[in-house]
Amino acid sequence: MSGPFLPYGRQDIDASDLAAVAEALQSGYLTTGPRVAEFEAAFAKSVGARHAVVSNSGTAALHLACIALDLGPGDSVVVPAVTFLATANAARFCGAEVIFADVDPDSGRLTAAAFEAALAQHPQASIRAVLPVHLNGHCVDMPAIRAIAEARGIAVIEDACHAIGGRHQAGNRSLAPVGSCALSELACFSLHPVKTITSGEGGVTSTNDEAAYRRMCTFRSHGMVREPADFLHADLGFDADGEANPWYYEMQALGYNYRITDFACALGSSQLKRLDTYSRRRRDLAARYDRLLAPLAPVIRPVSPAPGDDPVLHLYAVLIDFAVLGRSRAAVMRDLKAAGIGTMVHYIPVNRQPYYRWRYGEIRLPGAEAYYARALSIPLYPTMQDDDVDRVVSALQALIR
Ligand SMILES: *Cc1c(COP(=O)(O)O)cnc(C)c1O
Repeated sequence: MSGPFLPYGRQDIDASDLAAVAEALQSGYLTTGPRVAEFEAAFAKSVGARHAVVSNSGTAALHLACIALDLGPGDSVVVPAVTFLATANAARFCGAEVIFADVDPDSGRLTAAAFEAALAQHPQASIRAVLPVHLNGHCVDMPAIRAIAEARGIAVIEDACHAIGGRHQAGNRSLAPVGSCALSELACFSLHPVKTITSGEGGVTSTNDEAAYRRMCTFRSHGMVREPADFLHADLGFDADGEANPWYYEMQALGYNYRITDFACALGSSQLKRLDTYSRRRRDLAARYDRLLAPLAPVIRPVSPAPGDDPVLHLYAVLIDFAVLGRSRAAVMRDLKAAGIGTMVHYIPVNRQPYYRWRYGEIRLPGAEAYYARALSIPLYPTMQDDDVDRVVSALQALIR
């Protein structure tokens, strides 16, 4: 091993993060305090959306988005097969069924054609939403996905967990920040430590829809309402003089505890201040990989980018022709690990998971299979050095004999 171990991703915690968290812990608020709303306001501003609802995981953020649309039994949603489990599970939590769509074999992303094919294969389904995933940080073709969805009255929930800081095409050659919901109802982010910014565990759902925002706030905390103007039972909520009873609250729906702590939001806000710095560094590192990997094609090459986008990558994924190398992916991963290089596979097609197999049977999705067979995520994180990139590329080069 030459040099320190390079994981495929890693958080960056600096002195300002430590100070922000320490201050929050000493402030008297542990769970919901002023830092939650502060973080939400800063996040909404950063992505250019009217509202942001912060929750305690990206999974909760996706579930709240599905709740915002009032998805339920009898409804279906379209989810690309190559994603993290939570994209599909969020719809299932609501009782909705998942229609797995195929993806482009060279990018892993949902395409307009794959979306249309999924719709055509389920003519009887009541399809209420599509959850495109900006895999690795490269965005799906939002204008195309939006056009198809709009024509069918289907809502768009972006799984933007990989894509914070980037910009996607928004029609007429314009770009919109990921999370601005320029072409979607809702966008969901994760603040897990491996993602571009972190709060430990955490998630955010952004939207421009006032009703969706209010609904998510209620469901984040038990479906509980404390605003007197919203009380349904006046006899219980108010005293004889018409004053609201100070202890009173109403549960108007079956909600959850998806609240996040004040100190997690202190960390999130502190990290968000460095999003631009992180984005620049991730772009530089990705450009270096792009340049240095070019001679290794076609045996090893980066996943296809989205033309015209301005992405910030969460993961740097390459496609490897393991048959040409004469080695299995497992053997390659073990050798790279021995050379101090961490790698990971993102993702096993979700339709292949036992739970979904039991529910929907065997589904043939050749694009997802072709992507999955070749994909490998190699190290990418903002504190990585240029010569770390060179080391990774040399190790990949050495695989090709
Ligand atoms: C990380 C991630 C999630 C889930 O986020 P958690 O914060 O881990 O719950 C969902 N979708 C994608 C694409 C992710 O990468």
